[in-house]
Amino acid sequence: MDCLGRNLPRAKKGRRSRNARDALTRPLWPVHFKPLPDELLSSWLVRLASAHGLKVQTLSRLLAGSDYQLWNRDLDRVSPAWLLDALCWKTATPPEVGVGTTLKAYEGKIYRTFHDSYVLPWILPLKMYHRTRRGYGLQFCGRCLATDPEPYFRKRWRVAFYTWCAIHNVMLQDRCPNCGAPVIFQRRELGRPKEVDGGSIAQCYACDFDFRESPVAAPVFYEESAQRAFDLAARRLEHHGPWCKPRSVRYYNVLHHLCWMMTAHYRNARPLEFAGRQVGAPELLLSSQSRTFEMRSIAERHHMVQLGFWYLAEMKERLTAAWHDGAVTYSALLRDFEDRPKPYNEIVARFSDWRSR
Ligand SMILES: [Zn+2]
Ligand SMILES: [Zn+2]
Repeated sequence: MDCLGRNLPRAKKGRRSRNARDALTRPLWPVHFKPLPDELLSSWLVRLASAHGLKVQTLSRLLAGSDYQLWNRDLDRVSPAWLLDALCWKTATPPEVGVGTTLKAYEGKIYRTFHDSYVLPWILPLKMYHRTRRGYGLQFCGRCLATDPEPYFRKRWRVAFYTWCAIHNVMLQDRCPNCGAPVIFQRRELGRPKEVDGGSIAQCYACDFDFRESPVAAPVFYEESAQRAFDLAARRLEHHGPWCKPRSVRYYNVLHHLCWMMTAHYRNARPLEFAGRQVGAPELLLSSQSRTFEMRSIAERHHMVQLGFWYLAEMKERLTAAWHDGAVTYSALLRDFEDRPKPYNEIVARFSDWRSR
């Protein structure tokens, strides 16, 4: 029986694997390390399986039974409570640390309310298709992976505005630089049933390229105030600092709405072009497809979000200048945007009469 009282599947492989499975029925697993700082649940699970000499699939069956397909979903977002309970119990990990490995941990911080379906603001979608993905929903910093004593994947690498690593001052990458495949580290084993050792978690599942050897590029910033705001937001994600004003969830709501406005097409209103002109940003040819901010490439997101930070750095002055220019409109600033901070409402209220422009 496993920790949840289910019958364990019969051992089919060698003695080593069988012994490891037997050991996993004990109250505490033989190897019971806790998640590393900011580690994703999926990364922790894959490393635990490897530490026990088990395939990811085997450990998944032990935890979830053979009928429950753990990896057919975005496990870091759709994280069953019973799975977290079992993992925390077997590794003597505090429950709040377990929950901290999931994307629910950002609730009330960068988005208001968590839900496990549809678009979740700021969270990069994986676009799951069976056990593989069609979305580039997991980014990485090759330098972080290269300097880790044991490579692992961070939760903040799932955040759409986190486009560069402030620790190493390099752009993140959202796909394999060698073959262009999405980062799906668990597929190194899931897609290779006959292989016991799936190699390093830091290697591409499709071509074996080692992400630690990825070429790096420094991020380009257009303007100092936007860079400061961008840097602060990035470091908050890295160091789990206090989420106090003015970086409350409503701050991120305004940033998200500005990014949404930049991706939407309005007649005359061009908040992206206006901000770009003010800071002398190069023109970036954006994909013409109607996409949410989270669905855009890392280059597009980096461009847009820092122009959003530019507005926020001097919100009253810069939104007012954009309104006078006709780059933003009263209706667009309020459309489908309910959870607004008071200072934003006060600024936008002054734009209600377009004739006073
Ligand atoms: Zn890094
Ligand atoms: Zn590759």
